[in-house]
Amino acid sequence: MVYRLVITPEQRQSGHITLTSAQQHYLKRVLRMQNGDRFVAMDGQGKSWLAEITGESAQIIETIDMATELPVSITLIAALPKGNNFEQVIRSCTELGVSTFMPTISDRTLLKPSPHKLERWRKIATEAAEQSERQFVPAILNPVSFTEAISTVSKSETARYICVARGNPLSLWSCLQDKYYPEIVIAIGCEGGWTEAEIEQAIDLDYQPVSLGRRILRAVTAPIVAVSLVVAAYEGRELF
Ligand code: SAM
Repeated sequence: MVYRLVITPEQRQSGHITLTSAQQHYLKRVLRMQNGDRFVAMDGQGKSWLAEITGESAQIIETIDMATELPVSITLIAALPKGNNFEQVIRSCTELGVSTFMPTISDRTLLKPSPHKLERWRKIATEAAEQSERQFVPAILNPVSFTEAISTVSKSETARYICVARGNPLSLWSCLQDKYYPEIVIAIGCEGGWTEAEIEQAIDLDYQPVSLGRRILRAVTAPIVAVSLVVAAYEGRELF
């Protein structure tokens, strides 16, 4: 397996990549790579290069064409779950192909994230994108209120779903059969779920309440299931 590393635009200059001391340490001490060994450098915005270690930098050998992104952009509005659970959501949903995470403070959210958390979440997303050979590192937005999160989406060509654990809503899977959208927004509640007022507020903004099955899924499991259904609907026929 060729190791993948996300670099910033400033690190790449005329055929060379300047490696940060942390990257040098990781490649040379942790992975025990040496001069002449190759890795894939990615800018996290769709471009990748095969590169060869040469001392404290790396020489770009060639551009690599990859096609690992989903044909649909997924934004996950996630009411922040307790403790470190959002880290698991970011890791798994980055692997599955989410484009944007919108951490959200809902009525029943208990976690009050520190700025330090945001930095950690972005690091986790970068590592998960490297590991899963994504071309893009998903954006992790600053936490916002539920009202702000659901109002952010304005384009008419965006499908909007709010996952609700109880009642008898349509299944997300059946909704995904209707039509292909370029963008999908999915809202998932925290451990305490959504309040009725939040669900009503979302419906007013054209969010379709949807079910992920008859069982109550954990706040960490539900986003993984929802995003997997989108992956199956948009990529399933093409891949399997
Ligand atoms: N405490 C809530 C209750 O008892 O109804 C359950 C909340 S659940 C742990 C967390 C979130 O996951 C929910 O708000 C919902 O967004 C999503 N979820 C869990 N199971 C679901 C299901 N079967 N269908 C749709 N959404 C689900």
